[in-house]
Amino acid sequence: MEVQRRNSKKRDAIRAELCRATDHPSAEELFRRLRPQIPDLSLGTVYRNLALFLQEGSAICVGTVDGQDRFDGRTDPHAHFICEKCARVIDLPMLLPEDLLCQPLPGIARDYSLSFYGVCNHCA
Ligand SMILES: [Zn+2]
Ligand SMILES: [Zn+2]
Repeated sequence: MEVQRRNSKKRDAIRAELCRATDHPSAEELFRRLRPQIPDLSLGTVYRNLALFLQEGSAICVGTVDGQDRFDGRTDPHAHFICEKCARVIDLPMLLPEDLLCQPLPGIARDYSLSFYGVCNHCA
């Protein structure tokens, strides 16, 4: 039971860190931030837990930036601006043109996302 308790403690810490972060960290970034407080944490554990969060819907993957999947603990509908220069991922309100929302879909949508790719003001 001890192992299980340790595992759920790690899970809670990963979840808390992801929810606290507003910069949409990668698995490696989460690992780097949590390592000081959980010395026996492995990158594999971070990946496994992130996969679990995605499955249960408590986190989303906002896309691959610079070869790294980036994660978001914020799951309410919102859009993203992804800077291809500094790999910054910035939250935006979700605004869709009325027409798009009224458009009949060829099936039942489970989810949708909106991302802008380009160069942020910081880098422009
Ligand atoms: Zn930038
Ligand atoms: Zn976000």
